[in-house]
Amino acid sequence: MSLAPAANNILLEVRDLVKHFPVKTGLVGTRPLRAVDGVSFALRKGETLAVVGESGCGKSTLARVMIGLIAATSGDALFDGKSTARPKGAWAREMRRELQIVFQDPYGSLNPRMTVGTTVERPLVIHKIGGSAAERRERVVELFRAVGLNAIHLNRFPHELSGGQRQRVAIARALAVRPRLVVADEPTSGLDVSVQAKTLNLLKELQRANDLTYVFISHDMRVVRHMADRVAVMYLGKIVELTTADELFTSPSHPYTQALLAAVPDTDPTRRRAAVAVEGDPPSPLNPPKACRFNPRCPYATDQCRTIEPQLVQRGAAAHATACHRVGEFQPQEGRLPGA
Ligand code: SF4
Repeated sequence: MSLAPAANNILLEVRDLVKHFPVKTGLVGTRPLRAVDGVSFALRKGETLAVVGESGCGKSTLARVMIGLIAATSGDALFDGKSTARPKGAWAREMRRELQIVFQDPYGSLNPRMTVGTTVERPLVIHKIGGSAAERRERVVELFRAVGLNAIHLNRFPHELSGGQRQRVAIARALAVRPRLVVADEPTSGLDVSVQAKTLNLLKELQRANDLTYVFISHDMRVVRHMADRVAVMYLGKIVELTTADELFTSPSHPYTQALLAAVPDTDPTRRRAAVAVEGDPPSPLNPPKACRFNPRCPYATDQCRTIEPQLVQRGAAAHATACHRVGEFQPQEGRLPGA
């Protein structure tokens, strides 16, 4: 079964991507920390794919590996058919322009000794975009306007701006070089709630205006609902569910996804909710459980789950893929699940 959309609509194809970090154990030994452990999916042009999961599930590492910021252990990601894991020739440089990232902490990602105007201008200099110094400055002013800042902010330093303004600078810097793919790694989680909404709406506006494709990393399902066209749910380095946002939020089929959604506070007490409670913390990616990695925390686990690894398989007509042996055998009931 292929999870790939029509070939001419694919911007990025991730193929069996693996990232293991060696971790010292004892005096001489090392063991692999399996941050990303065999992930495949295709990203469509112009869409927002959200990657969700608990802290430590590998979502941020996946994003960094697939855009070539950190080296893959194995596998590859093809951007318009060109490798991001092993880029060659001019593409190695071009890739740095085409694929951009906005980090969670704008303060940490901006140079504190550089004015924010210069920060946004630097990528234009590095990639030789914008012609003369005056033309580059004009482009920076234009970018500042696009993200809701104005010319008076150009000569400010990061510490002179609010958190929301700093994140706008980071977004302007990412867009300066006219990328086609932007990874937004928890871009609003460090911001006040009122600023979060404005920043999310800004990202949507910029996507429409600049024909951008987003990979949106988040642990906040309400933010994901607002932003995503499709959602990939990650657990311990693997994708366990991948489908459209509408399908995921109305018919989640993996017990872990159901648990994530059940944990979202709901202002409507009459709404029918799945009550899948997942106990404890996720196991360590240094020593993931055999077969289904979710089995020690899953209320439906059977011997099959503990011995055979479930594959990410599409079932039914909808583009809805799930890695679970028991899909369809259980459905969320009102406030209770069979066997829970
Ligand atoms: Fe639970 Fe088994 Fe499905 Fe894993 S494969 S999520 S243990 S039911």
